[in-house]
Amino acid sequence: MTEIFGIMIVGSGRKRPPAGLTTENHPTHMLALKEESRMSILVTGGCGYIGSHTCIELLKAGRDIVVIDNYYNAKPEALRRVKELAGKDFPFYECDIRDEEGLRRVFAAHDIEAVIHFAGLKAVGESVSKPLEYYDNNVGGTVTLCRVMAEAGCKRIVFSSSATVYGMNNPSPLKEDMPTGAVTNPYGRTKYIIEEILKDVCVSDPAWTAVLLRYFNPIGAHESGRIGEDPNGIPNNLMPYISQVAIGKLPQLAIHGDDYDTHDGTGVRDYIHVVDLADGHLKAVDYAMTHTGAEAFNLGTGRGYSVLDLVKAFESANGVPVPHVIGPRRAGDIATCYSDPSKAERVLGWKAKRGVEDMCRDSWRWQSQNPKGYDE
Ligand code: NAD
Ligand code: UDP
Repeated sequence: MTEIFGIMIVGSGRKRPPAGLTTENHPTHMLALKEESRMSILVTGGCGYIGSHTCIELLKAGRDIVVIDNYYNAKPEALRRVKELAGKDFPFYECDIRDEEGLRRVFAAHDIEAVIHFAGLKAVGESVSKPLEYYDNNVGGTVTLCRVMAEAGCKRIVFSSSATVYGMNNPSPLKEDMPTGAVTNPYGRTKYIIEEILKDVCVSDPAWTAVLLRYFNPIGAHESGRIGEDPNGIPNNLMPYISQVAIGKLPQLAIHGDDYDTHDGTGVRDYIHVVDLADGHLKAVDYAMTHTGAEAFNLGTGRGYSVLDLVKAFESANGVPVPHVIGPRRAGDIATCYSDPSKAERVLGWKAKRGVEDMCRDSWRWQSQNPKGYDE
């Protein structure tokens, strides 16, 4: 057991499989440590890539937060740096969202007005080989979380959904009222199922609010270079791959196909700066305070960039070469995916501010200042 931020963190923080809490890391001793009168926002998965950036923005906006994470895909150093950047303390619990008792203790210890729910497994390829782990963790965990929330009288949730729920059949720009569910892998199916579950929960009890945030392709890092994406092993996603090639960790980027029906034949995506995405969560929480029911919003820029566009933008923003070769298509990929973000602007008052140059520059700052991620 270690003490950090004036709050007890239980457990070693080492990476562990996403199983339930053990008695060793159960937040039993937390009750004595709390008692704040202000309402807090509970951030699940708050040590991860998007969660850590969102915690900073919440703290900067003067919100009180409580963070839980099971450290499956995160390191304690991330939250230490969040605290350093925000200059503010907050309670953290090493807790699995499937641990009902652990969650009850967190809700008993704090007045939680809303939950931002990032916790989940997110590797598309892994979800194909381990579907049950994905359904258990993502779907089962969300059901448990909602049950405990309802018991505690907290009925506002902002959920990390994904553009993947639009599936293969809708043309871009993707709009929130297009049909969802034609997903191609278990990860995507968990996002679709959770959206449907949250809609059902809102129908069953009109006091509930579920804001379903459909992220497009988050990249970039905090402008300080202190926090960013720290993938385990060889990255699957484009930007961390580019960054690791640029720093010499990987020899070259393989571009997955150049025969798509796009302006240069390579896949087109809607990349969004992670800090813009984080800001979207603040607007979503504000919305949840004043609305009920389930509502989906795209969080993207509305602009599509090809793989080659992103490689060139990275090279020119940072003055570093990104050696690349053209390889075969990746199974399951679509040619083009970008958002119509106008609903988020109209209803939430949110719009992405940062461009692709900012995204490339900030990704590189994080990578070059932290070549081993949080292990430095
Ligand atoms: P991440 O892996 O960096 O963060 C997720 C965090 O959740 C990690 O810190 C992990 O340790 C924690 N976690 C996982 N299972 C848990 C459990 N059972 N109990 C407690 N904590 C648990 O991922 P991210 O990129 O920050 O993504 C956050 C959310 O956004 C995820 O739900 C992801 O599916 C979704 N999303 C991400 C992207 C993307 O490209 N990064 C795109 C669309 C949606
Ligand atoms: N991509 C690529 N090489 C890589 C990783 C990704 O060419 O090593 C391409 C991929 O085929 C897609 C785009 O980059 O066209 C974005 O891929 P990513 O996995 O980051 O996001 P997603 O496909 O899930 O939107």
